[in-house]
Amino acid sequence: MGRALLSHFLILSNSSPRLASTLSCSGFPRHFPSSSPLIRRSSRQFRCHCTTVSPPPQPASPETTPPTSVKKRVVSGVQPTGSIHLGNYLGAIKNWISLQDKYEALFFIVDLHAITLPYDPQELLKATRDTAAIYLACGVDPSKASVFVQSHVRAHVELMWLLSAATPIGRLNRMIQFKEKSRKAGDENVGVALLTYPVLMASDILLYQSDFVPVGEDQKQHLELTRDVAGSVNSLYGGRKWKKLGGRGGAIFKVPEPLIPPTGARVMSLTDGLSKMSKSAPSDQSRINLLDPKDVIANKIKRCKTDSFPGMEFDNPERPECNNLLSVYQLISEKTKEECQDMNWGTFKSLLADALIDHLHPIQDRYEAIISDPTYLDEVLEEGATKAAEIADATVSNVKQAMGLLRRR
Ligand code: ATP
Ligand code: MG
Repeated sequence: MGRALLSHFLILSNSSPRLASTLSCSGFPRHFPSSSPLIRRSSRQFRCHCTTVSPPPQPASPETTPPTSVKKRVVSGVQPTGSIHLGNYLGAIKNWISLQDKYEALFFIVDLHAITLPYDPQELLKATRDTAAIYLACGVDPSKASVFVQSHVRAHVELMWLLSAATPIGRLNRMIQFKEKSRKAGDENVGVALLTYPVLMASDILLYQSDFVPVGEDQKQHLELTRDVAGSVNSLYGGRKWKKLGGRGGAIFKVPEPLIPPTGARVMSLTDGLSKMSKSAPSDQSRINLLDPKDVIANKIKRCKTDSFPGMEFDNPERPECNNLLSVYQLISEKTKEECQDMNWGTFKSLLADALIDHLHPIQDRYEAIISDPTYLDEVLEEGATKAAEIADATVSNVKQAMGLLRRR
């Protein structure tokens, strides 16, 4: 079950051992070499060649089981709430690239999550396309992974409502992200969707009977809730109770495992080594966006927060900025800790800026090619949504049956 690959991540269920080693990812879609102009090809040419058992599309019915795969399944997504930054890349997207080779992968743009705080509809529209283009530019390959927009698959919202009935409100009230974001947004005035966001996220994952969910550390609590909701729906409605209603019995949902990389799972702000780098942080100086031009990257690194200790060192709790920037450098340059420790801040910062520029430049080139071909992007998203809906609709149909909802004739 892909032990070698999984050993690159921390699997955080109680039962699983904590496995860690350096995460190293490579590989970009072969149809977008950075040196050649974009050649438009229908995404139909990029069909999955894995051994997925995909029955022909048919209306979901309780008698059909969700299309299952010989391969284990991974799902993950990023909200189109702004520009994708280094934290999203190192904590999530970069890791997807190696996973898509081994697993059946579904990577989506979680636009319904992006409306949980006040937003500008025009910016959402642009950020949704940009996020999809960045996935592809980073190396997500539509011939290996289904890439789609969350709101294009209706089952996400439908399952969310069904799961809401099995989610205790006390758990939602205790979610760290809800507390932090609602405090910042002015408590009583925040929309209900900010509170129920984790139920939608549970739906995003459980719909696909996912085995693994590669995310940054900030999502650990949401993943724990997802696992608990899956367990409680399975025991409330699954097994013999479901069989009596004509279902197949057994577990309704697979209980997923989070995959959290040992390094890069929590990239910190450039202006405060104790806060997470975030799209929603008000200052753009706090993050490196994947699409930042060279001079902006150089300037942000030049001005980012440092400390007055001599030399560079890892794991000193009094030096969060140093630890953060060294981890970033290690991940993008694949240098070892030892190679950096004798440097001073000045030398290190210029190496870091150069390494970031070199690493991001090919991604930026590919992004430009992809975003300037809207037809190609639309085809990829259309095909991804079609494949995803096939799995998702079957799951919703099973859940409705197990929960005793009358089937439409
Ligand atoms: P927002 O501020 O709008 O919540 P965000 O920057 O937190 O945006 P999300 O879209 O919420 O980004 O998260 C997308 C993915 O990126 C998730 O898997 C999340 O765990 C990961 N991620 C987000 N921020 C970081 C970070 N600073 N370091 C590592 N991973 C991160
Ligand atoms: Mg977030």
